[in-house]
Amino acid sequence: MKKLTCFLTILCVISMQAQRDWSTVEITSEQLSDNIHVLFGAGGNIGLAIGKENAYVIDDQFGPLTEKILEHIKTLTDKPVKFVLNTHWHGDHTGGNENMANQGALIIAHENVRQRMATKQDRGGGRISEPKPQAALPVITFNDKMTLYLGDGNSMHAMYVYPAHTDGDSYYYFPGDNVIHMGDNFFVGRYPYIDLNSGGDVDGLIANVTMVLGMIDEETKIIPGHGKIASKTELKSYKEVLVELRDRVVNARNEGNSLEQTQILGLSKEWDETHGSGFINAERIIEFIYKSAD
Ligand SMILES: [Zn+2]
Repeated sequence: MKKLTCFLTILCVISMQAQRDWSTVEITSEQLSDNIHVLFGAGGNIGLAIGKENAYVIDDQFGPLTEKILEHIKTLTDKPVKFVLNTHWHGDHTGGNENMANQGALIIAHENVRQRMATKQDRGGGRISEPKPQAALPVITFNDKMTLYLGDGNSMHAMYVYPAHTDGDSYYYFPGDNVIHMGDNFFVGRYPYIDLNSGGDVDGLIANVTMVLGMIDEETKIIPGHGKIASKTELKSYKEVLVELRDRVVNARNEGNSLEQTQILGLSKEWDETHGSGFINAERIIEFIYKSAD
């Protein structure tokens, strides 16, 4: 069971990268609109937008999977992958950047993604992420927002959002297709991972989710960082849990409880079985909130 849980978790996926047998990973996909697909494999969900001349990829999982990912894309379109965009810097979303760049793609991301990838990162708990090679780094960065015109009347909107999962989080929104990729700001039915060492912040996360809920409708297809495609209703209940839990943790903190004391109050008990069964358990989500809430 422990091993299974480990496989389902992102941190473990990263740390197990070296031992992992990539040959067993199967890439599958689901069509979300005329021009947009999502690809599943190992690591973050990949968005694929097919424009008039080019294919656009959002996140690229792990380097050893690039061949398989490109093979799968060839079954969906004959357009070349000219643009790769990253939702944030974590290796399970950017691990294929170097290979993608070497086959001709331009890597695009928020400036903070480039900064963190280009420098040594202390992930906490003794985990160090070494600087990535030049070819893996975004060659075009943005600070706020950017629009990519796909040549067929459709467009993709890159939106930098408040620091939430990391301080380089961006969403990629396709208004014409009614699809949005939210990266790791959204784990359907689970507690979020707020990477405090990368500038993550629960208040930013709640603000971002609130903004998206105001932009989308019941028909919108949401690509979360991991897991199945989600709806507005699911995003709404994710937010409700976050808001309620944040209030409880902040109240306990304001009453003078230490982190350790707050963690044993049972503040999240009604959600722990469902939301806390992955790699972010009750203890960790309470720590994230305790340390990052204003
Ligand atoms: Zn992540």
